[in-house]
Amino acid sequence: MAHDTSPVGCHDLRMRRRLPFPPGESAPARALTAACAGLGLAVACASGDPPPDPAAVATHTDGRAPIGELYAAYESLIARGWSRDVVAESAPEGTTQPLPIVALRSPGTGPAVWILSGIHGEEPAGPNAIAAAIEDIARLGSRRPVVLVPLLNPQGYARNWRYLNVPVYDETIDGDSVGDSSHLLPDARSPGAARAPTASSAEAEAITHYILARTADYPPEVSIDLHEDNLIHEGYVYSQGALGAADPLAVAAVEVLRQHGVPIKAGGTTRFDEPVDGGIIGPVTDSSIDELMSAATVIADGRARPGPRAKTVLVFETPAAALPLERRIAAHAALLRQLAERLAPPAG
Ligand SMILES: [Zn+2]
Repeated sequence: MAHDTSPVGCHDLRMRRRLPFPPGESAPARALTAACAGLGLAVACASGDPPPDPAAVATHTDGRAPIGELYAAYESLIARGWSRDVVAESAPEGTTQPLPIVALRSPGTGPAVWILSGIHGEEPAGPNAIAAAIEDIARLGSRRPVVLVPLLNPQGYARNWRYLNVPVYDETIDGDSVGDSSHLLPDARSPGAARAPTASSAEAEAITHYILARTADYPPEVSIDLHEDNLIHEGYVYSQGALGAADPLAVAAVEVLRQHGVPIKAGGTTRFDEPVDGGIIGPVTDSSIDELMSAATVIADGRARPGPRAKTVLVFETPAAALPLERRIAAHAALLRQLAERLAPPAG
């Protein structure tokens, strides 16, 4: 379903607007339910408040799973020893009930696989595919550390809204992406400073703080982020990590997409003028959460500090215009299964 009317789709660059928080009020305070001691940053890990009932929130109907079913599928990991963090309670203007942005962590800590999805609310394939492949993710988590943040923009998912504040991309309107990381990423013109003085939303602040805080015990080795794009007819994979376009996991991912009927853009450039080679685009500067995952340095509290520096950072873009939702979910689920298989060390 096409909602973006601009030639700019998934990138977060140019979509940021300044939303300064009142003096004395930290940005996450509105979004977070409780501070988590020991992490050094304001991250919500548990709350004494009764959790909101996500099943009570109506979900956009286009074949995507109701949001309550997604939460239930993700939280089935808790019975396997995983921990649930509430990164934020998202309640942007115009919504009637807060919805939690949840993260699930495997029992073991250490160099980890991070799985992210649902940043853009009008891209339902990733969050649905994670629910469909939850057994494979559970198995991966039994063999190596995993952090799963499957529905980063739950209000967007429920409403089919791309952003927190507006449904669609429009050059004249600043859309608040929950994945905007410009307040932490160094400005190329002034590397000691961040690209933006503050986070563009409470959600972006909470999510990026969560990532930096959790990097201490689950440093990302591999980060994957499931997206779609309703203005393309051929899919591709961004490879933002140290190995860039040569990353073997990116090559494998393209092959899985191809095998599952997703047309792949073999060459030329994306509509953002990025060169594509065999369905893969190397590192780009887009102020996204994926750029944050690969960042060697971040600017936090006005100081440079080591970034998450994930070696492999992949962003999948399936062509929503070319394939029905069911097929796109199947392709994303196949990607998750194949990656889980590749990333899990041999049993025993
Ligand atoms: Zn997207």
